[in-house]
Amino acid sequence: MALLTGGCLCGAVAYRLEHLPGDVADICFCRECRKASGAAGLPWVQVPPARFAVTKGAARGFAFSKAAMRWFCGDCGTPLYMTDPEGRSVGVTLGSLDEPEAIRPTTQGWVCERVSWQGLDAGLPAFEKSPPYDL
Ligand SMILES: [Zn+2]
Ligand SMILES: [Zn+2]
Repeated sequence: MALLTGGCLCGAVAYRLEHLPGDVADICFCRECRKASGAAGLPWVQVPPARFAVTKGAARGFAFSKAAMRWFCGDCGTPLYMTDPEGRSVGVTLGSLDEPEAIRPTTQGWVCERVSWQGLDAGLPAFEKSPPYDL
């Protein structure tokens, strides 16, 4: 198990997460992630809520749909993590990790909404919609 830390660009919000080798890490190409981040693909790792905690400040939440709440820094806007109403998992953005090399994406999802100029990683499985999660 690896104990990782992360946070937003301005430093107001920080978190820690416990990463296990089997955690699903996906690059999401869906429209919602694209709009929320301003990037063509958004990489996430999924962990059970018990392995994630905000350690500094508080993120602001925004629910575009009933399925998920997106949490970001209210000061600088960095997308940080996502939660679901059932408390199944927390998705944490890999780009907000202090050491982003610590977790490599293992799959790609929502290829059906991908912008055509955004390449796929040929070495990773790709799913038209949500990749399967084991949580
Ligand atoms: Zn911030
Ligand atoms: Zn998405």
